[in-house]
Amino acid sequence: MNQALVQDVVAEVMKRLGNKPSGHNGSAHTKRPGVRAGEEAGANEPQRRQTYAHPHSADVPTGQYGIFSKVDDAVAAATEAQKKLVRLSLDDRDAIVKLIKSLAKQNAQSWGKMELDETKIGRLDHKIEKLQILELVPGVEFLRTNANSGSNGVCLEEFAPFGVIGIITPVTHSVPTLSANAVNMIASGNSIVANPHPSGTQCAAVAVREYNKAIAAKFGIEHLITCIVPPTLETADQIFNHRGIPLLVVTGGPAVARAALGAKKRAIVAGPGNPPVVVDETACLKNAAASIVKGAAYDNNLLCIGEKQVFCVDSVFDKLMAELEHNGGFILNERQIEAVTRRAFALDPKDNKYHVHKDLVGKDASVLAEAAGVRIPPATQLLVGETDKDHLFVQHEQMMPFVPFVRVKNVDEAIDLAIESEHGYKHTAIIHSRNLDTITRFGRRASTTLFVVNGASPSGLGLGGQGYLSYSIATPTGEGITTPLTFTRYRRVMLTGSLRMI
Ligand code: NAD
Repeated sequence: MNQALVQDVVAEVMKRLGNKPSGHNGSAHTKRPGVRAGEEAGANEPQRRQTYAHPHSADVPTGQYGIFSKVDDAVAAATEAQKKLVRLSLDDRDAIVKLIKSLAKQNAQSWGKMELDETKIGRLDHKIEKLQILELVPGVEFLRTNANSGSNGVCLEEFAPFGVIGIITPVTHSVPTLSANAVNMIASGNSIVANPHPSGTQCAAVAVREYNKAIAAKFGIEHLITCIVPPTLETADQIFNHRGIPLLVVTGGPAVARAALGAKKRAIVAGPGNPPVVVDETACLKNAAASIVKGAAYDNNLLCIGEKQVFCVDSVFDKLMAELEHNGGFILNERQIEAVTRRAFALDPKDNKYHVHKDLVGKDASVLAEAAGVRIPPATQLLVGETDKDHLFVQHEQMMPFVPFVRVKNVDEAIDLAIESEHGYKHTAIIHSRNLDTITRFGRRASTTLFVVNGASPSGLGLGGQGYLSYSIATPTGEGITTPLTFTRYRRVMLTGSLRMI
């Protein structure tokens, strides 16, 4: 795909809206979390729009191939598309899902680069891989009718679509989340209205356009996946409150999770995490070190399931640190940790609390090392270092390739502190141990949606582990790692007194 094509659907939409493309004006993130449209802007202030400076614009006007500037228009188009979708056979739905997966794989290199160029966070190799592995996302094969026959007839339980689903996607995996949601949701007969993260919109819009183009060419449905360009808090709010959208699926951090939980309709919420790792004296330290580096360094620790802090028993602590050095880890000393912490967190005078400094989120280990005032070997994947249990890097979901290691006297202390640092998100926890009692105890007490034993966190989503993939892990609302079934309504058909063949 050439640069002009990759660069933008958005500039054309902006042009037609009469806005000058003038760079990022940061609508969503300059506002207070959870604030509804209009509460912060003065009543007479014109609606603030996300704008993007892109000299090359692909000629795709709003209203074509799923790109819309108005939520009402997107919902109307997605509603029509969904009616057409459910008229197709399940084999056709399966073919659409496969088309999306193959387009993601085919374009993984250019879309991965496009996403990295736009969001400026993460690693290119992993941005590409996250699209290549989309084939691990389940599709139509998950819709297996439950059937039950007996003296009174035949009972079928089927999985019906909701209709149009409103989705909110994160900047950390803009195209992967949109694509995986699309696979799951279209497999179960739904269409989509997406409000992507403002800083990951162009890449999402290009993927939406390409998916719709291919689906339209083969199946005559043009707007199965719609995308709001530009997305704002106002358009998110309109999606939350639209009568044509019966279901919301929100993937993001604490503010949007809170907003979705307060919505007046059903919301499936894939919220934040702060995954702790416990390492006890029975663990294979070589495997623990390799797994921690692999998981925490993945996309520069942008994964919500990624290892964020480690609690290791004193008796093997130094040995684990030595193993980390053999596996792409670089150990920072106290002074270097202090220096990187000063750059990574900022005290907000408004609430007198420390917040993660966005500038360092998802940046390479070399950038963090520079902040720490140290030069590191080019092969370094992850920075590590010893901290106390209350350190900012331990308690915050920092999404950076520096992982703090806390020395504890025994595994009971490790489990207590790990659970405390997870803050009740019930997202992901990891343990390295050969003691089944310890594994069971931690698993039961942590009660997280994902519990990974003796592996790297991505194995919990099918990367080097058993199981299927999703980029939306519904945590506070309890649906877990989402599948096509997550986006269905259970319907029962009862054929009384007939069709029993035995
Ligand atoms: P974010 O919360 O800043 O943004 C997520 C999305 O919500 C964006 O589209 C954003 O524009 C929108 N948004 C933010 N505040 C909103 C509000 N008040 N109302 C409506 N929309 C709002 O998060 P991010 O930085 O894009 O992504 C990282 C966060 O997402 C981390 O906390 C991570 O753990 C979480 N995450 C969770 C999962 C999961 O499956 N559970 C997957 C990926 C990311």
